[in-house]
Amino acid sequence: MADQHATVKGMNDILSPEVSKWQFVEEKARSVLEAFSYRELRTPSLEYTPLFVRSVGEATEVVEKQMYTFDDRDGSSVTLRPEGTAPAVRAYVSRSQWNREPVTRWYYLGPMFRHERAQRGRLRQFHQIGAEVFGLNAPSIDAEMIAMLVGMLTEFGLQASDLSVTINTLGEPDERVAYREALRAFFSQHVDALDDDSRRRLDTNPMRILDSKNPDVQTIAAAAPILLDTLGMASRERFEQVRTQLQTLGIDGETDPRLVRGLDYYTATIFEIKAKVGNLGSQNTVCGGGRYDRLVESMGGAAIPALGFGMGVERVLLAMTEEAESFEPALSLFVAPMDERARLWALPVAHRLRMAGIRVEIEHRDTGLKQQLKRADKLKARLALIVGDNELASGKLALKDLAAGKQHEVAAADLEAKIRQLLD
Ligand code: ATP
Ligand code: MG
Repeated sequence: MADQHATVKGMNDILSPEVSKWQFVEEKARSVLEAFSYRELRTPSLEYTPLFVRSVGEATEVVEKQMYTFDDRDGSSVTLRPEGTAPAVRAYVSRSQWNREPVTRWYYLGPMFRHERAQRGRLRQFHQIGAEVFGLNAPSIDAEMIAMLVGMLTEFGLQASDLSVTINTLGEPDERVAYREALRAFFSQHVDALDDDSRRRLDTNPMRILDSKNPDVQTIAAAAPILLDTLGMASRERFEQVRTQLQTLGIDGETDPRLVRGLDYYTATIFEIKAKVGNLGSQNTVCGGGRYDRLVESMGGAAIPALGFGMGVERVLLAMTEEAESFEPALSLFVAPMDERARLWALPVAHRLRMAGIRVEIEHRDTGLKQQLKRADKLKARLALIVGDNELASGKLALKDLAAGKQHEVAAADLEAKIRQLLD
């Protein structure tokens, strides 16, 4: 039996001060996404298993090894969502969203579940910020999305020069048929050097071998034929347009002809963003995405082109070098009542200040002035309000500016205005 206080391996509690950094990132992400006209989509954490098997793809790491799949009590197989695109497409198709609006922009924020080897930047419950755009196939929307991501990461405090943007095109499915055969022929010549997974993928999905994390396999893959060389004019021209538009947006994306990405549904443009700073180690891909122009139709919808991305929040936080403490909200006021009568008077005063949006803590325990001021200090309060017999009798309250080391006498009626003035 596991320790009764242990979390499930690879799944963490998130609390203060770290949670402040999380909230900062989430708020920034929302405001950037809303500025680009995305609306939030919230889907359940649990989905019927075939949704992921069909969309992510049978011969992928995620479906083969990483899904938390179990039988529900009625015997149906369900899976904790390992990614956000398949649920978004399910929601899009189930309500025939294309009949309601020609272009849909949705974003989501929340936990994803993958049973993988837990390490820094690789969790079993991790969190993604993601978005999908349905109904557009112009190259400009691909560039817009990538530029938005760079913009979002810089809003988090990362420098554009600390990011590397990699793009590639996977072309159209029919263009990949011949390439897949060429790859199969190539890797068949090196079958002895492949690991078990790659050998299996030789039959099921040879392009997946290019995505292997095994260094020996990567060495061989470096000499494999290149997809881009085999694509038709239309695909190559489209890719060129994405590249040009990225340049006009000031993003220098590097083309990596070996970038394939781990999920099966991608077509045309795919991209990844790596962070070259912070505490990430080899798990430094903070974000990945691309087009999936056939997925909506293959899941029973109309022929609607689409694209999306997923960003790993834990990895973003590791890339941000600023300490979590610096994101903690400051306490504005500590209220120090000297006795029960003072507390009776102070509690509604504190309540009104709090409802006016000022961050206030009041001492509920019976302790002396010295201890209360110590506590105010510990909480890094900007101000302290001392309420005792003298103050109540005179109607003049003692408001201490702890940061400036000054004391002000304030009438109860002027308290809120004085606090605001001192906090400014
Ligand atoms: P990797 O190659 O690192 O396994 P992936 O290709 O499986 O990533 P995606 O499915 O594209 O990742 O997910 C998008 C982003 O979500 C990743 O770029 C990463 O930042 C984050 N991510 C994916 N898996 C995990 C995980 N297990 N723990 C933490 N973050 C993750
Ligand atoms: Mg992975």
